[in-house]
Order: sequence, then C-alpha cells, then structure tokens
Amino acid sequence: MKHLAFLALALLALLLSACAGGAAAGSADGRLTVVTTTGQIGDTARIVGGDHVRVLSLMGPGTDPHLYVAGISDVDKLRGADVVFYNGLFLEAQMDAVLEQLAERQTVVAVSAGIDPAELLPSAAYADEFDPHIWFDVRLWMQTVEQVRDTLMAVDPAHAADYEANAAAYLAELTELDAYVAAQAARVPEAQRVLITAHDAFNYFGRAYGFEVLGLQGISTASEAGTADVQNLADYIATARIPAIFIESSVPVRNVEAVQAAVRDRGFAVRIGGQLFSDAMGDAGAPEGTYVGMVRYNIDTIVGALLAE
Ligand SMILES: [Zn+2]
Repeated sequence: MKHLAFLALALLALLLSACAGGAAAGSADGRLTVVTTTGQIGDTARIVGGDHVRVLSLMGPGTDPHLYVAGISDVDKLRGADVVFYNGLFLEAQMDAVLEQLAERQTVVAVSAGIDPAELLPSAAYADEFDPHIWFDVRLWMQTVEQVRDTLMAVDPAHAADYEANAAAYLAELTELDAYVAAQAARVPEAQRVLITAHDAFNYFGRAYGFEVLGLQGISTASEAGTADVQNLADYIATARIPAIFIESSVPVRNVEAVQAAVRDRGFAVRIGGQLFSDAMGDAGAPEGTYVGMVRYNIDTIVGALLAE
C-alpha cells in the first residue's frame, strides 16, 4: 500500500516536471483562478475574492483531507491556477510533494502560514508536526482569512481595495460567529463539556470553548483505531456517564458505533449525538456548505445532544 502511494506520487512528480513552463495566468474574463484543497478554504477565497476570482475546491463534502491523493485532473486544475491555497500543517499529507513542486513556479500559499506557532497545538499523530485542524477555533481561523486577503492583494493589486473590504466584512461576521459559539458552549455546565468524536479534529475547538475533547483515532485518520482504544473509551464513557458521542461526515461511522456497542456492554446507553462536519463541509447550497454554517451546525448539534434538548 505504501509502495503504491509512493509510486503514485513519483508519477505525479514526473507529470508535473514534464509540464513545466506553461503556467497559466489570468483567465479570459480577467478573473483570477483560485484552486483550494479543502472546501472551508474555498469558502474564504470565494468571499474575500468576490467577483474577481473563480474558485475551485478539490475536496468536496465528505472528503478526508488526510488521505486525499491528487489525481491527474487535480494536477491539471492546480497547474491552471493563478493562486493555490492549502491548509498546511501537514493536513494534506498525501499532497505535500505535489504542492511543493507547484510552489517552484506558481503562487502556492498555506493559509496557516501566518499563525504564530505558539498558538498551535502539537499533532498527536506525527512527531514534529502541529495539529492542522485550525478551523474549529474561529479566532485562529480568522488569521487564515487575513492570509488569503494579503495574498490576493499582492497577486492582484488592481482590486486590493475590494479584497480588503470583503475581508473586513467577513472578519466582522466571524467575530460574531466566535461569540455565538462561546455563548452556546457556555449553556453546557462545565463538567458536561466533553466532546467524543471519531478522530481528533476538535482539539482547537476544545481549547477555545472549554471542552474536554477525546477522539477515537489519532489526529490523522490514517491511523486505525485499535480494540484497546475502543475499550478504554467505552470504560471512560460508561464511568463518566457521557450522554452522547458524535460521528463525523468525513470519517466512517463504524468505529464510533463500536464504542457505542462496547458502552452498552457495560450497562450504559450512550447516544450518537449527531453527525459533525469535521474535516469537510456539507453540501454546496446547504447551510453546512459554508464555513459559518458548518461551525453553527456543529455547536448547535453538540450543545443540543449534551443537554439532551
Ligand atoms: Zn482530521
């Protein structure tokens, strides 16, 4: 499996270098072509870029960014981009080599690049890496909006004032969103603020809004949950009488269902509190298909389930 992945990467690298030299710049209608890895970054680029950009996100609803491998058509899209935005912090673990190659002759920007490392949490899965799930601390995510703004202003200075205004309006909306999440979280008594999910996507959320967070898998979905993990977590849930645990849209549900069954074996019924959007947003057009909608949906789902509303 590892060899296959390596082979795919090597082929992509070959393809990239074979196509070198023909970088596209600007489109016929004068709009910038912006390609992003995750949907949440695409949402930011769309809002900050407004009418001056055409945005394409490679990873759609339900896509797991930790495991996502760039296909041939993705490489075409990336090569045709005026700007490529990715999360960084090793979220797109399988795309690192491709992005690195692209960066040699295109504008390729990690939206996390401007964040002070002192504000980042360590990765549980990879030594010497940070936890990449920065979008669940709204304040932290706001720094990526600034990164997108500054990049677009530098690449397309003719529309700098628009990018600045769009970003300012969006940052104001995100300030309100942050206050909303904090207010919702505060409705749950402190002792009951325990969030148990399929994988460790919510550590920044926990730090920002006062939740203890436990994930069944490590920080990346690349590691499988072991039987011992399931039993340990089941012990904890049954003992602490945690009312609800959560599944995620981008992670298979079987692991969380295994925990639920193991808790039942211990004579306690824990509910599945709902599906959270962790590493991917919901469908385009649905409220959860935007970053703001996804964050609101998650906090409402978490609070509703923990308070058994
Ligand atoms: Zn994740």
